[in-house]
Amino acid sequence: MIHRNTVGRKARPRAGFRGQPLTDEKSCIGCAACSYICPAGAIIIEDKGDKRRVIRRYDRCIFCGECERRCPQRSPGVILSREYALAGEKKENMQTSQEFLLIRCIRCARPVGTLKTLQATSDRVGPELASVVPNLFLSDSLCSGRNQPPTSKRSEITRSDIMNFLCSSCRHKVYAKDSET
Ligand code: SF4
Ligand code: SF4
Repeated sequence: MIHRNTVGRKARPRAGFRGQPLTDEKSCIGCAACSYICPAGAIIIEDKGDKRRVIRRYDRCIFCGECERRCPQRSPGVILSREYALAGEKKENMQTSQEFLLIRCIRCARPVGTLKTLQATSDRVGPELASVVPNLFLSDSLCSGRNQPPTSKRSEITRSDIMNFLCSSCRHKVYAKDSET
């Protein structure tokens, strides 16, 4: 029910009221930090193949504000609006979703991160440091069209795979293997 004041207008909540969290889809990078922290399970991450879907379910939200606090994007990322009238007849109408290109480890296929997350990290650390971190360097070349997203999964890895997308565990194995020889 929408509470209305005596002249029939929708009531205005006080300053500081925590209402519907609104995500700026342009600045969201699909990092999943909000999903890890959300106590109500209102932000769901679905990783399938090379796609990540971030699903925001407002029917589950308890308006705690953790997603706003923990989102690494500040322009503007997530903001709790003052919107409180969220009732709906169908749950499906009370959710939004957003899709991202997902990069996986070429050895074990575990998610390394979305391309946007790698890019945002690269921007944050700067070109000098990004150029010596393979996953960041590769994401830069992917964005500039100098590379293709990894497609195959292999069980064997060699020294040359250092310059491929790898999760931290598989990258450690490449270095360990290298030091054995
Ligand atoms: S406000 Fe709290 S419950 Fe709602 S989506 Fe954000 S973290 Fe989850
Ligand atoms: S924490 Fe922010 S940037 Fe990361 S997925 Fe959530 S809304 Fe997007």
